Amino acid sequence: MSDKLKQTKIQATQTARQALHLLTERGLPPTPENYTAIYHEISGKPRKSSQSVEEKQIPPEQKLENDRELITLILSLISTLTESTGTLAQNLGVQNKSIATSVSALEQTEEKQEILSLLQIISSTANSIQHSVESTSNELANTRIALETMRTELQNTREQMMLDPLTGARNRFGMDITLGQEVARARRGNSSLTIALLDLDHFKNINDTHGHDAGDQLLLYFTQLSKSVLRESDILFRYGGEEFLVLLPDTELNGAVFMLERLKHMLQKSPLHYQQQKISATFSAGVAGVKPSDSAASLLQRADRALYSAKSHGRNRVEIEAGPTDPQ
Ligand code: GH3
Ligand code: MG
Ligand code: MG
Repeated sequence: MSDKLKQTKIQATQTARQALHLLTERGLPPTPENYTAIYHEISGKPRKSSQSVEEKQIPPEQKLENDRELITLILSLISTLTESTGTLAQNLGVQNKSIATSVSALEQTEEKQEILSLLQIISSTANSIQHSVESTSNELANTRIALETMRTELQNTREQMMLDPLTGARNRFGMDITLGQEVARARRGNSSLTIALLDLDHFKNINDTHGHDAGDQLLLYFTQLSKSVLRESDILFRYGGEEFLVLLPDTELNGAVFMLERLKHMLQKSPLHYQQQKISATFSAGVAGVKPSDSAASLLQRADRALYSAKSHGRNRVEIEAGPTDPQ
């Protein structure tokens, strides 16, 4: 490591350590926001946000920026951990040597005054060991708490990243991960997994007739209605625009069709109430069951084919994929 890099690292570690002390001193919880604010206060680096330590609400784009900074801060905190334990080990080594020297001198003397002064040295070295251990232990505990809070915060951001902000359903990003996992799980466990692609019919007309905001409200309403019909283990994703994907683990094709027909019926009989208007909607759906040779992509492709067929057969209907049967 170059001297300059080493110096920067030492500085970052010292700042991280000071930030942690200040947080404890001010009685502030070591949340990433507080830690970041204090870290910047000490280092004198300008923040990209005008967020003060007391403010709690942070817009999502700022949050992502903060999370990037957070990773840097976590790394600097880990450096303080390494440094603290390293310093402790070094101190203990020196003090241990001092005690050993005094003990061996003690064994070789009968001179009362010398014994007393050796005992004095041993006692104060023991005190100093206790002090080093206690202060490092406090520092380690604070660092551990701060790291744990930051880990939770990053975990929350990760979960938020998988949610669609309009409907609260999981988004495409989350879908890519979960679908792959569920297909692999179904194939491993030889269990059934069915998926359904749903697309709201003539949604463009709804936007054109009632406005974009009404369209948005309908998407939210449809999500809530779907969730009320789904089982706990089923997962709804907003696949894109006015398209949704439902993942039904341990469900055969006919179970999925039953659920979708129920949803179709509910949507038909319960229009959305929006600004004194009643907005009716229908959807078309394509259903496909996992086969032993399936990947997430091939399963999706078959559901998409079935959806296309439902659209071309007049919409407001549920169709099952009629692909070739798997030889296995
Ligand atoms: P089809 O029955 O063939 O599916 O017809 P459609 O009109 O639903 O399909 P098309 O693909 O022609 O149009 C989809 C529309 O969905 C167009 C787009 O503006 C609208 N849309 C996509 N995302 C949103 C959104 O988040 N909010 C609103 N309000 N509209 C959206
Ligand atoms: Mg549509
Ligand atoms: Mg569409």
